[in-house]
Amino acid sequence: MNPITQLKAKLPQPLRRLADLAYNYWWSWTPDRMSLFRSIEPTIWQTYYHNPVALLEAVTYERLSQIAEDPDYLKRLQVLANQFDAYMREPNTWGSQVAPDLSAEEPVAYFCLEYGIHESLYTYCGGLGVLAGDYLKSASDLGIPMVGVGLLYKQGYVCQRLNRSGWQEDFYRDNDFEHMPIELVRDEYGQPVTVKVTVRQRTVRVQAWKVRIGRVDLYLLDADRADNDPIDRKLTGQLYGGNRETRLAQQILLGIGGVQVLNALEIEPTIYHLNEGSSAFALLEVARQEMEFSGSTFAEAQTWVREHAVFTTHTPVSDGNNAFSADMMDSFFGHYWPQLELTREDFLHLGARRIGDPWEPFSLSVLALRMTRQANGVSRRHGEVSRQMWQILYPDRAEAAVPIGHVTNGAHLRSWTAPLLVDLYRQHLGKEWARLFDSTKPWEDAESQRASQTLWQTVDALPDRELWRRHCILKERLIAYTRSRVLASRLERREAKDDIMAVERLLDPNVLTLGFARRFSPYKRGALLFKDLQRAIRIFSHARRPIQIILAGKARPGDDEGKRIIQRLMEWCRHPALRDRVAFIEDYDLFTAKLMVHGVDVWLNTPRRPTEACGTSGQKAAFNGVINCSVDDGWWCEAYQPGQLGRPSNGWTIGEALDSSDQELQDQVDADSLYTLLEREISPLFYERDRHGIPHKWVAMMKASIRTNAPNFNSDRMVADYVTQNYLPDAAADAAALKAGQVA
Ligand SMILES: *Cc1c(COP(=O)(O)O)cnc(C)c1O
Repeated sequence: MNPITQLKAKLPQPLRRLADLAYNYWWSWTPDRMSLFRSIEPTIWQTYYHNPVALLEAVTYERLSQIAEDPDYLKRLQVLANQFDAYMREPNTWGSQVAPDLSAEEPVAYFCLEYGIHESLYTYCGGLGVLAGDYLKSASDLGIPMVGVGLLYKQGYVCQRLNRSGWQEDFYRDNDFEHMPIELVRDEYGQPVTVKVTVRQRTVRVQAWKVRIGRVDLYLLDADRADNDPIDRKLTGQLYGGNRETRLAQQILLGIGGVQVLNALEIEPTIYHLNEGSSAFALLEVARQEMEFSGSTFAEAQTWVREHAVFTTHTPVSDGNNAFSADMMDSFFGHYWPQLELTREDFLHLGARRIGDPWEPFSLSVLALRMTRQANGVSRRHGEVSRQMWQILYPDRAEAAVPIGHVTNGAHLRSWTAPLLVDLYRQHLGKEWARLFDSTKPWEDAESQRASQTLWQTVDALPDRELWRRHCILKERLIAYTRSRVLASRLERREAKDDIMAVERLLDPNVLTLGFARRFSPYKRGALLFKDLQRAIRIFSHARRPIQIILAGKARPGDDEGKRIIQRLMEWCRHPALRDRVAFIEDYDLFTAKLMVHGVDVWLNTPRRPTEACGTSGQKAAFNGVINCSVDDGWWCEAYQPGQLGRPSNGWTIGEALDSSDQELQDQVDADSLYTLLEREISPLFYERDRHGIPHKWVAMMKASIRTNAPNFNSDRMVADYVTQNYLPDAAADAAALKAGQVA
């Protein structure tokens, strides 16, 4: 019996539809998202971290029976279940108009090492995974036939705890797959569907779990089976944990295992979309199967693969994590290249930046660039950086002619907009507030589809007072949440009583609030705001115009430099002049991210140029009227619009790139610029109020932030761009022309 049927059997008859909703993450982006499950039992809902399956299993039958007799509740459930059915069956989607050749049997297969769908499914680390989750959600909303492929990690990504000295201690929590909204894929006899992948001369049996994301299914591969060697069972233990061998093994499971699982499920993708290089081994496995089925040579199979595969590159720095020595490749692939009828040398060439250099590592990005018909960076700027970085593969081409384009990333509008604002947008923009692509009109050209952007012009007409009021509620919620999280951390650290009590004075809803939440890698410069401590203190504790900041983010497990940045921030959280104004929320994740992008006033972004490939958190913030203050890098190079006559700017740009490679000097210039912006522009604007306390000029910038960013930097636009520029047959022809003459 499948787990949905099992769960239904446990529920009182009138509540059975809850099981369908619980097993499809569609609920998580409906406006009613939380309340339907939360109102069943708020404490259990919190204990199980918003996992609806665990909630329904844990709640008492008595309570369920009570709800089953509550007419209001049943009505809400009925409405939502009807919406769900209509969504799942909708025949006239944008995808059915624009890409009728894609089908459930011949879909796009999307590969990624991590997916951030919801806080109850901890299989993501950060930006890459959340982007992949948003991608699948938009593909579902637009009706693009797609399956996702990834790995299911027993322990997910690392959890963060800060000790008394502010040092990040890493630990892991086990996922309990049996009580999660995921389903083990079984065959007609009820046995788990498995495939066999050879890793280090041993056979590893891999099973798959299905996660339903609206109309899209995501298959997550899992090696933790009793019939595997104990060491191999740990291969899917942790995301970005383990050593390089583990990493290579995971990439083999994802790429080679992933293609085999699709095969076992009789899914025959027409497009393989590799989101980042780590799944590039999939290309080899598709080629191998092609050779096996049609008796073709590797060269022929390679041509076939290239016509059916596209690649998104994410990293603007060298491919260190996804490149492996020839020794490692020998031990993991010695059995494999003969199956491709390749010599060792020819095989290693596929991943070598420079052919003929025996010390060249095998790079998955290189493999992906060689074996896909189209490659993209994730913002316009990142496209430029990628062409420069990879020109080495195309020695006879000018940099501008390197065949790497870009599709700028976006975030999922329905998931990232606070329900309180969704409600306001619906009132003023209409029920279709989040719709960019109209399926009732035939697809003609991008311009006509983008006409729906004019919808967002309506944002200017939102009543200032109402927008501001809702923003203030979201900010108060964030501050209450921040205090509760900081309190919990201080209690856990057994801090002195006075310090614990001081949490009551932490943060003030009337004070201008900045947010900074991202991975603490040195290149993101998480401490730039405190570069000149005395100046920072003056700004934070200004008598009439103070500011405060909420921080969150992890350092990668072995990244001591990143951990030192966090440690310094924690010192400032305790500094007598800053302690009420600087708060750090531990263990950043999707839930904290949502509250932060809903509730701060300004979203801060300070990477070293040009290392932020895109950045998506600022986009999420903009959907909620939060104003971006960012270095000109990644998406912000495209998004920033200076003020024009009568129209405010949509944010602030920090500093400017120097012609020098002196990082210290650049940091100094950027910090100075940030301080000046805060002192002269941001604070004065925020504190300029009418007699009702409403900052009209500020609200005008909030509206500019929404109006200019929401229609451009959302994942529907991103997926639509991929469909029209990468997936469709015309796109294939264009790509072939672009790549003509490329070295094999
Ligand atoms: C959006 C998001 C990120 C990525 O943010 P960047 O701006 O790209 O650094 C990371 N983690 C979580 C939880 C997110 O929601």
